Amino acid sequence: MPKARIMIVDDEPVFRMDIREMLTEEGYEVVAEAANGEAAIEQAVRARPDLILMDVKMAKMDGLKAGRIIHQMTKIPIVILTAYSQAQLVDEAKAAGVIGYLVKPVTEADLVPGIEMALAHAARLRELDKTVERLHQSLEARKLVERAKGLLMERFSWTEAQAYERMRRHAMEHRVTLEDVARRVIQEMSRGGGQRA
Ligand SMILES: [Mg+2]
Repeated sequence: MPKARIMIVDDEPVFRMDIREMLTEEGYEVVAEAANGEAAIEQAVRARPDLILMDVKMAKMDGLKAGRIIHQMTKIPIVILTAYSQAQLVDEAKAAGVIGYLVKPVTEADLVPGIEMALAHAARLRELDKTVERLHQSLEARKLVERAKGLLMERFSWTEAQAYERMRRHAMEHRVTLEDVARRVIQEMSRGGGQRA
C-alpha cells in the first residue's frame, strides 16, 4: 500500500525541514508545505493531502482557525503539532476537525504511529459518515413511500396493501425505484391530478 501524502504547516523552516526528512525517510510523500494558516488553506485545497500536520502558534492565522476552515472545505484530517497539551486547546482542536496531536519536539518514534493512527481514525470516521448518509437516505425514501401510499389510499379508497402493490408493480414495470414512484405520486397528487401512479 502506498504511504500517505502529507502536508506540513509550521512557521519554523527548520522544523518543517526536519519533519520532511523524517517523513520522506519513512516513505511518506510530502506534497505541500506552508508557513502560516492562510497559506495552509490555499495549499490544502490545491494539493489535497491525505493528512495535514499543523502547527498551532503561527503569525497571520493560527493553526486551529486554519484547521477549522480546511476541515469545513475539504474534510482532510488534521494532526496538530503543539508545544504543550492544554485542556482549552483540546476543546478548540475538536471543533477544528483535529483527530490527533503530536507534542513538540516531535521524534521519529512518535511521528509514524501518530500519523498512522490518525489516518486509521479518519478512515473509520469516513465509513461512519457514509453509513449515516445511507441510513438517512433510506429513511427519507421510506417516508416518501409512506406518504404516497397514504395519498393513494385516500384518493382511491384502497387498502394499504393495495396502494403498496400498485406502487410496487409500477416500479417494476417501469424499472424505477419505489422511491421514484412515490415521488411521482406525491407530485401528481399535489398538482391535484387524479391519475394513477
Ligand atoms: Mg509555531
